[in-house]
Amino acid sequence: MKFNTKVIHAGVHPDTATGAIMTPIYQTSTYVQEEIGVHKGFEYSRTGNPTRAALENNLAAIEGGKYGACFGSGLAAIDAVIKMLKPGDEVISTNDLYGGSYRIFTTIFEKYSIKFHFVNMLDVKNIEEKINNNTKLIWAETPTNPMMNIIDVKSICDLARSKDIMVGVDNTFATPYLQNPLSLGADIVMHSVTKYLGGHSDVVMGALVTSDDKIAEEIYRIQNSSGAVCGPMDSFLVLRGIKTLHLRMQRHCENGEKVAHFLENHPIVDTVYWPGLKSHPNHDVAVSQMKGFGGMISFTLVGDKLESAKKVVSKTELFTLAESLGGVESLIGHPSTMTHASIPREERIKSGVVDSLIRLSVGIEDITDLINDLDNALKI
Ligand SMILES: *Cc1c(COP(=O)(O)O)cnc(C)c1O
Repeated sequence: MKFNTKVIHAGVHPDTATGAIMTPIYQTSTYVQEEIGVHKGFEYSRTGNPTRAALENNLAAIEGGKYGACFGSGLAAIDAVIKMLKPGDEVISTNDLYGGSYRIFTTIFEKYSIKFHFVNMLDVKNIEEKINNNTKLIWAETPTNPMMNIIDVKSICDLARSKDIMVGVDNTFATPYLQNPLSLGADIVMHSVTKYLGGHSDVVMGALVTSDDKIAEEIYRIQNSSGAVCGPMDSFLVLRGIKTLHLRMQRHCENGEKVAHFLENHPIVDTVYWPGLKSHPNHDVAVSQMKGFGGMISFTLVGDKLESAKKVVSKTELFTLAESLGGVESLIGHPSTMTHASIPREERIKSGVVDSLIRLSVGIEDITDLINDLDNALKI
């Protein structure tokens, strides 16, 4: 089955009880047992729920994996990954990681004596330097937020495989439509389903996908034991969202490209960060591992004034000022005062999050309206 068919059909079957084409919302915590241990595959909804199961199978299929597991949020999914480790184990991760991932690593799991190294993953040598006998996991994210750095997943996986280290990739920004880390050698793919997979800014959810039997067993054990699962209503909404993932992503990419070129040619815009631009430092890697470049764009303003950035984000009308991303509607954000405010200014600036950096989640509205909106907002 091709991707555009999988999003609609994979894992989803007409309801056996009623013939309903759409997977029903099985809003139930428990299931009848005809006699002890005799049931239809479901005993208790923390362990398994038919609506969630349909979504988990669908997610596994669209990522090209065997097993899917859904959680109450993206961070709950990451939490489950790190719970596979034990005290003394070490993790190597990227230095421009999603802020929430950085927070769970450093404020939750360091307490349990798991050690995290944050390195610049644009050069695999930086990873190699940190590897020792305790290294159990490499955790990457690409494209990164908000600098849209592109990390070469295959070269990391090649390095890790020779040393028997697990590789996990946060594939939230790319989605399975643009990039499939499992096919590049990763062991685990993670999603903040909240973003593009849900696609309509109405659900918070996370997911993990793997093809490895042993890893899957561990993930399901943790999913059931720690219990950070998502509910059937949310599973239904995401199943519905995923049916149009391919169409939405296609339009996000088209609109993203037009907005990136518009910004690149605008006199008050300094640098545009979008992996589809030839000027992007890792454009070649993006071309080799991604099918398209998505709708996430960051840019800076000439002169790098905080005040100018504040004016721009307050002047847009269609681009709504908000955190989050990946919905059908366009959003605008100011990383240095919003998502990345907790990082000290000097460190922030070193990684490129300067005062005038603005991040766009380009939606799927009419491109003329989007460009007019930005054009107006940039008249400052
Ligand atoms: C939003 C996000 C997360 C966290 O997901 P939640 O669903 O908000 O818990 C993790 N990684 C990336 C790249 C994200 O954008």
